[in-house]
Amino acid sequence: MLYSRIVETYTKIEATTKRLEITRLLVELIDATPRSIIDKVVYLTQGKLYPDFLGIELGVAEKLLFRALTRVTGQAESKAATLYKKLGDLGTVAEQLLKDRTQVSFQRKAPTVEEVYNVFDTIAHEVGQGSIDSKVRHLTTLLGKASPTEAKYITRMALGRLRLGVADMTLLDALAISLGGGKESRLTLERAYNRSSDLGYVARTLATGGMKAIESLKVTVGRPIRPMLAERLSEAKAILEKMNGECAAEYKYDGLRIQAHVSSNGTTLFSRRLENITDQFPDVQQLLKENLEGIAIILEGEAVPVDPATGELLPFQLISQRRGRKYDLEKTIQDIPVAFFPFDLLYADTIDYTDRPYLERRERLRKLIPKNERLDLSQQKICNDPEQLDDFMQEAVADGCEGLMIKSIGRDSTYKAGARGWTWIKYKRDYKSEMQDSVDLAVVGAFAGKGRRGGTYGALLLAAYDKRNDLFRTVCKCGSGFTDEDLDKLPKLLEKYSVDHRHSRLDSKIEADVWFVAGLVLEIVGAEITLSPIHTCGMNSIRPGAGLAVRFPRFTGKYREDKSAEDSTTTDEIVEMYRAQLKKVTENTTVEAA
Ligand code: ATP
Repeated sequence: MLYSRIVETYTKIEATTKRLEITRLLVELIDATPRSIIDKVVYLTQGKLYPDFLGIELGVAEKLLFRALTRVTGQAESKAATLYKKLGDLGTVAEQLLKDRTQVSFQRKAPTVEEVYNVFDTIAHEVGQGSIDSKVRHLTTLLGKASPTEAKYITRMALGRLRLGVADMTLLDALAISLGGGKESRLTLERAYNRSSDLGYVARTLATGGMKAIESLKVTVGRPIRPMLAERLSEAKAILEKMNGECAAEYKYDGLRIQAHVSSNGTTLFSRRLENITDQFPDVQQLLKENLEGIAIILEGEAVPVDPATGELLPFQLISQRRGRKYDLEKTIQDIPVAFFPFDLLYADTIDYTDRPYLERRERLRKLIPKNERLDLSQQKICNDPEQLDDFMQEAVADGCEGLMIKSIGRDSTYKAGARGWTWIKYKRDYKSEMQDSVDLAVVGAFAGKGRRGGTYGALLLAAYDKRNDLFRTVCKCGSGFTDEDLDKLPKLLEKYSVDHRHSRLDSKIEADVWFVAGLVLEIVGAEITLSPIHTCGMNSIRPGAGLAVRFPRFTGKYREDKSAEDSTTTDEIVEMYRAQLKKVTENTTVEAA
């Protein structure tokens, strides 16, 4: 299949914001794709070559692309640089330069999808001496064969900035319609995706083995499972009602969620967003190796920093210092070691435990995990009384935890990969502010700083995720809580998400100075949630013409690098938080009046 066929679809996708239309275009593309390259087409459309958990990044440096473009088009690098300043997107620059090129090869042989994929694959694996020249050579040859529009997407892809904005769920819809016999098979496909975290693999399995192969797709050690997520409530009584009167309450540790895959081939650790973080936690790796040797197992737990002298749990932020440290990691590990608290079992002894109820998983896990100084099963208690829950909450907080995770012990208590539901409920101690809980919001825009903040950002535009419509909707403009260090590093952190226009997946009435594709997620607390005429989150759901905003938002200092933008707090959750807040005010007023 020619690469131009994919490009045709990309161009149309970029011209629309309608999810149904995007799905239709993807269905047409999948219909036209030979079965043998279906996975490649899926990965390319996601702007990658492999599933994220393999950590293989294309990310060619801009300067290499400048070099390749100069060679292909015969234009001066300075012209490309000027155009880039004006257009802000190297893809569009490539398109323009190719249109204006002086040396046109009349025997241009249009590239195929395989060819483009293979060139990218070669580039992604090239390291060491001579690799830079070789990458430029490969790109030059490929761009030399490309049309201006193909060059635009090749360039964006090479930079790791395809940003078509096609959500995984939209691709699953399209696969269901095109290859799964209809939209009804989407749920089964989604289940397979949740258990493998690899859309290309799901597409390939479907294309070769049909729905039968999809239905029997099992969890595998080494392939991360999308994490099960919790709803939230703020009262013990309401929680117990949801749990039919009885539940398991576990300490909610304030650390980093780790999904550990242990087998005789070694141990791999995945973050909440399924990045391979094994290298950051050699201590956890060692701990599991020593204590679980001989068993192929997948388990989840929370890694929490501890004071090496007292064993007390320390704030989560101290763990994030490990990120990106290659050289002094050993010292960081010594200064701030972690304890690991397993809380769920997904696979052991060739048994897929995700279909087993909570108590069975817990019991097996208890037998597997020996208790020692740095490894211990999450503290747990079966509760059937609100007071008992609140007492346990006090204990958890006193022991340095954030609160409790309440888990269903009913028949519905299987591990629901990739789903947020009421079988797990977060019960956190109240924050001092009126807002019950912090929210995690995606950065979608920024405003230039003035005075002391000149040259950096004065405030960020933050958005919640509207899952139903696959859009981001603004909730607040946040300028407080940022330290000088944050202000220094934010432009760098946000650079890779920058776009020169409001992205099609963002609903905003506010004009920012700089726009971003939703990517970076920050934890925010605020005084309360209020109705707002300018923010688009939850628009019309409480009152016509009004959205919801976080009042007096403040950055807590937590960069949620373990979350993707789609993991941000959803607009529905914010609507729920607003309602819960209203209810609380009404109850308090009633008590006072009485
Ligand atoms: P999300 O609900 O989207 O994960 P979040 O990370 O902000 O959002 P939290 O409010 O931190 O959610 O609560 C959920 C997280 O709590 C889990 O992802 C896990 O990292 C952590 N956690 C700590 N202790 C437990 C436990 N005993 N069982 C399950 N999760 C736990």
